[in-house]
Amino acid sequence: MNVWRRMSGPRRALALAGAGTLVAGGLVTLPVTVAHAATQCAVTYTTNDWPGGFTATVNIRNIGDALNGWTLGFTFPDGGQRVQQGWSARWAQSGQNVTAQNESYNGSLASGATISIGFNGAWSGSNPKPTSFTLNGVTCNGGTNPTTPPPTTTPPPTTPPPTTPPPGNRVDNPYLNARGYVNPEWKAKAESVAGGNRVSNNPTAVWLDRIAAINGTPDSSSNGAMGVRDHLDEALRQGANYIQFVIYNLPGRDCAALASNGELGPDELPKYKAEYIDPIAAIQGDPKYANLRIINIIEIDSLPNLVTNTSGQPGGTTMCDTVKANGAYVNGVGYALAKLGAIGNVYNYIDAAHHGWIGWDSNFGPTADMLKSAAVASGSTVANVHGFIVNTANYSALREPYVKVTDTVNGQTVRQSTWIDWNQYVDELSFAQAFRNKLVQVGFDSGIGMLIDTSRNGWGGSARPTGPGPMTNVNDYVNGGRVDRRIHPGNWCNQSGAGLGERPKAAPEPGIDAYVWVKPPGESDGSSREIPNNEGKGFDRMCDPTYTGNARNGNNPTGALPDAPISGAWFPAQFAQLMQNAYPPLS
Ligand code: BGC
Repeated sequence: MNVWRRMSGPRRALALAGAGTLVAGGLVTLPVTVAHAATQCAVTYTTNDWPGGFTATVNIRNIGDALNGWTLGFTFPDGGQRVQQGWSARWAQSGQNVTAQNESYNGSLASGATISIGFNGAWSGSNPKPTSFTLNGVTCNGGTNPTTPPPTTTPPPTTPPPTTPPPGNRVDNPYLNARGYVNPEWKAKAESVAGGNRVSNNPTAVWLDRIAAINGTPDSSSNGAMGVRDHLDEALRQGANYIQFVIYNLPGRDCAALASNGELGPDELPKYKAEYIDPIAAIQGDPKYANLRIINIIEIDSLPNLVTNTSGQPGGTTMCDTVKANGAYVNGVGYALAKLGAIGNVYNYIDAAHHGWIGWDSNFGPTADMLKSAAVASGSTVANVHGFIVNTANYSALREPYVKVTDTVNGQTVRQSTWIDWNQYVDELSFAQAFRNKLVQVGFDSGIGMLIDTSRNGWGGSARPTGPGPMTNVNDYVNGGRVDRRIHPGNWCNQSGAGLGERPKAAPEPGIDAYVWVKPPGESDGSSREIPNNEGKGFDRMCDPTYTGNARNGNNPTGALPDAPISGAWFPAQFAQLMQNAYPPLS
């Protein structure tokens, strides 16, 4: 993964019955404050269903006198229906009877006003809609579902309404003042290398890189025995506030490279939805986990590949053409966002590549547009996107302290150096902040936050420059001063010389929700030679230290470490190097 997909710079400048049964203990204010007032209401109840689960949106319109305190009541027609986790009201269920009482902040409901509340629920058997609602004990006669069904004889509508993401009660930055989940499987691997206990208590992401990973894959070389539920249960045990998962299994995955190809063929979008996303959503939506902030990193490298790596572009592939043409990536990402975003405590961050891929003008705007198109695909809306992540599993420096893109040497812009090659950015922090603005401009929420994967972009150790390079010419200046010591910014596999970057940290800079370790340090990017495996992983020569490169890396050596196992597998030599070259250094 993380093939560098640079575009050549200069050239491109270039719901009962049961009304009576619901008068519950919660109705304390009604008789007092509105003793003679007329209560009347209209309720619409819509759901978005999937096998075993659903999200319900309930709109209550007050068509009576103003209310100061309200309680909605309804009865589930089926004994298997349950409210799991609700928002914008205090939800309770007893048997099949459900009540939703106002929160302290939304108790006043003016005459004519509508309030929208909702919940995530579970069902078994069937998920029929309630047919009658009460507000403060009075049956709502102003209509229920769009066309008022006669009491009990007509079956409720079966067509699912468009996906309606719940408003949820998410916090602006899920990392802030929050304790991250430490994956015990990664921790054990880290501690198997001398000195690993210095960093093994950092939160890293759990990669769900195949269907089997949902329940755990004891036999695979690149993933652990723990499944999604195991990790969530362990997160509760740890008292963690947030947990990070990587959703990574699109049809035709990693279309422009070979090292992280996956199990699903390009036409397997139905399987992706039904056997991958739906089961993950069912587990993440379990009310047991409602107090955990569940962060999903959505589909690394996918959408940017559609922008820069279709055939006819440098290094483009016909697999990228296929998944662009059949909508697998756009509709897959849209589906993941909609399904997972319907869970009130889930935070979705979409992958947005890195500066050495998207930093050129020709790629920047089109990528933002592509991300937007996926965010509104498959019934999703931008409301399902909490933010974006850059530099996932890549090595681009967070900051280049001694090279600014605006520097000049002898009157020449450093942008014309071979290393920068007309890119508009030299590091991830400046790129992430600028790309955030662009994303807001194309229609994403102004509150979005960025994440930067700093797991392996430290570039410390003895080779780290301590000041700017010589002013002899732009190349000497850039090459002498840059902390990113790669042979070429197009190199992406198991980079020699790399170190651990900033430790995971919340709100480090404006617009940045967190520095995160999404790629677990010490897990390989790809094998240095062909290794047969049953995970769909190919052999990409960019992981072979003897390969002399291709057009994408300027025909340079790959800078990959030797003797690497397949992507995701533990690579202790790399982990040792990452610790040695950590920046900030390890004490
Ligand atoms: C691999 C995954 C692995 C992840 C984290 C990806 O490159 O394809 O199998 O879980 O890296 O190491």
